[in-house]
Amino acid sequence: MPNLNEHCAKALNALDANSLRRTLRMSARAADAAVEITYDGRKYTSFACNDYLGLRGDARLISAGQRALAEFGAGAGASRLVTGNHPLYAPLEAKLAAMKGAEAALVFGSGYLTNLGVIPALMNKGDVIFADKLVHACIIDAAQLSGARLMRFAHNDMAHLEKLLKEHREDSTNALIVTDHVFSMDGDVAPLTEIAVLGEKYDAWTMADDAHGLGIPIGGTRAVAPSPARGEGMAIDIWMGTLSKSAGAYGGYVLGSQRLIDFLITSARSFVFSTGLPPAVCASALAALEIMQAEPERGSNALAHARRVTEALGLPLAQSVIVPIVLGTPERALAASDALKAKGMLAVAIRPPTVPPGTARLRLALSAAHTDAQVEALIAALRGIL
Ligand SMILES: *Cc1c(COP(=O)(O)O)cnc(C)c1O
Repeated sequence: MPNLNEHCAKALNALDANSLRRTLRMSARAADAAVEITYDGRKYTSFACNDYLGLRGDARLISAGQRALAEFGAGAGASRLVTGNHPLYAPLEAKLAAMKGAEAALVFGSGYLTNLGVIPALMNKGDVIFADKLVHACIIDAAQLSGARLMRFAHNDMAHLEKLLKEHREDSTNALIVTDHVFSMDGDVAPLTEIAVLGEKYDAWTMADDAHGLGIPIGGTRAVAPSPARGEGMAIDIWMGTLSKSAGAYGGYVLGSQRLIDFLITSARSFVFSTGLPPAVCASALAALEIMQAEPERGSNALAHARRVTEALGLPLAQSVIVPIVLGTPERALAASDALKAKGMLAVAIRPPTVPPGTARLRLALSAAHTDAQVEALIAALRGIL
């Protein structure tokens, strides 16, 4: 066995050789800065943050958090099932459920912890999970942790999903079809109605990860209401998301029937065995949800910015606020990111293994906080380097 440092150095050298090593850079933002960020010691306009609605530094989130901090203290003190279920959870969960028309909601420590808890609570050895090829890494981690068989269908390819269901559904006890609603590195949207229909036809539960959809008017006929309880035709059984992106705070949540939530409270291990969120975080998240409802134009403005970028560059029309500029090799993506940086704009290069080999890219995230002038400057800069 090599010594520990040799072991790590060897792995790091291999990553360096392929431009795949990742390092931490300091990112600092003033609370009142809309999209300006100090990264690596220099100031940029950021197109790299997930603060899609510009709520992260909103004075109302900050004061809600401050009040909760003063009233309830810094930490939850225990897991929610013990004594950590402080008074801000109930209104937060009620709001989430009401916003999406679900019977019930359950808030977890993060989006990652939500998937890591929900999927293994429901799926076991002898079951099968069908997941889109491009789902977020935490869904794959959760599927592996569950012990169920994992089958991947080609991205948004319903014919392939149906073929896999036909061939493999019957061998297993329970089945789950899981997809991102908005894909985190591609910005496109899953055909949820078709997925719900296939779930019904082949007796599989369905689950959508809405980490990038909350508060954004993701359009057309493809999204469906998450609530089977409402009886509104086809629906996704399990809807999850995060409070860490467009809600500008932190935490994850799952929505579904009351029975599902009751079951998860006692069975999802990342819920049972982890401390509750700090009260201030819940208070800020609740304030964010209220703003989302009162100011729906935030979401439509962010989407309009993304559409403007894709139209100007002749790319397929943006379906969400995420716009990928696929460049191929990690080197090309890094060079494009550097060229934007030289113009004062931050767009991080996304490389394998986050995206498949050969599809390294710039991932642009547009926000309601961007001005039209900032979006036009981005377009001009991209025209110069693509
Ligand atoms: C970011 C993300 C998560 C994880 O959410 P966190 O709250 O950041 O842990 C889960 N799923 C998808 C699709 C994501 O993009």
